[in-house]
Order: sequence, then structure tokens, then C-alpha cells
Amino acid sequence: MTKRKNQKNQKKQFDKAAVEKAVRIIIKAIGEDINREGLKETPRRVADMYEDIFSGIGRDVKDIVKVFEAEDHDEMVILKDIPFYSVCEHHFLPFLGKAHIAYIPRKNKLLGLSKIARIVELYAKRPQLQERLTSQIADSMLKAIDPLGVLVIIEAEHLCMTMRGVKKPGSKMVTSAIRGVFRKNESTRKEALALISK
Ligand SMILES: [Zn+2]
Repeated sequence: MTKRKNQKNQKKQFDKAAVEKAVRIIIKAIGEDINREGLKETPRRVADMYEDIFSGIGRDVKDIVKVFEAEDHDEMVILKDIPFYSVCEHHFLPFLGKAHIAYIPRKNKLLGLSKIARIVELYAKRPQLQERLTSQIADSMLKAIDPLGVLVIIEAEHLCMTMRGVKKPGSKMVTSAIRGVFRKNESTRKEALALISK
């Protein structure tokens, strides 16, 4: 029992040596020379980078969220142009762009901009899908501060599409997650969308 538990915990830890080994195998497998000057240190560099760009794996929003209590603020809050970088889980190539978030607090419970930016980052630093990233941000906001409504829009460029010529460079995919009053009330939703697209 204990042994199994330990193994489970170990699985969650980042295994830098295993990543280095795997990258070395890939470099050889694509027909490159692992001893070539420019590639010698590449497995180590990739492993270091993966440790950072996948640092959101297994982490919980509870660790970063602190709620502000504002005095009498029950109006819409909009946070625009939060930059993020993530990795498409289908191709392991980056997708990057901006997140826009609107919410209407309940009982004056607010989340600061830096906290919201960290929530976005936590979910972005995993192998991801844009649709899932969008709804995870919305749902974690619901859980953290129970707002009357939350609306998340993400626009991103996927290098797995643009590099391969599936889509023109610069073309973006837009996803949204709409919860609470934004779903029920069309004029509230329109107001949020108008403020976001300004
Ligand atoms: Zn992809």
C-alpha cells in the first residue's frame, strides 16, 4: 500500500534525467547526429525548459488563490489581454495568445489581476487543449470566488497548424467559456463582449 502510494507520488515528479534520455533518442531517431556541436547540450536544455513549461502539472489553484474582499463592488470586472504560452497536447508544439476574463463578483469577493494571471499560467503550463484551458480557467474562478457569472475568451495561434501550413501564420483560434449570468442574460453577455473587444 505504502509502496504503491510512493510510486504514485514519484510519477508526479518531474524526471529530468528521463526527459534528457528521451530527447536524445528523438534526436537520433530523426536522423541527426547527437554529437554535433549544436545538439550536444540540447537534451539537457530541453529538459530544463520542460521543467518550467510543464510546471503546472499536478498543481492546484488552491495554492495560489487568495480572495480580496472589496467594499460594495458588485459590478462587472474585466481583465483583458492576459498573455499566455501553452503546449498543444496533440503535437507538443506551442500555442500562445491572450486570455480575456469578465466576471461579476458575488458578496464583494474579488480576485486580483496577478492572481488571475497566475491561474491562467497554472493551467497553461501543461500539455493542453485550448478548449480545456478556457473552461478550466472559468471553472476554477467559479470555485475560488463563486461569482454571479464568469466569461473567458481565449484567442491563440497554434504553431502545429501554422508551421505545417494547415492555417496561415497569424490566424487565430478563439474559444469561450460562459458561466452563470453571462449565460442566462444576453445583455450582460453583450456588455462583457463589447468591453473585451474594445
Ligand atoms: Zn496541435
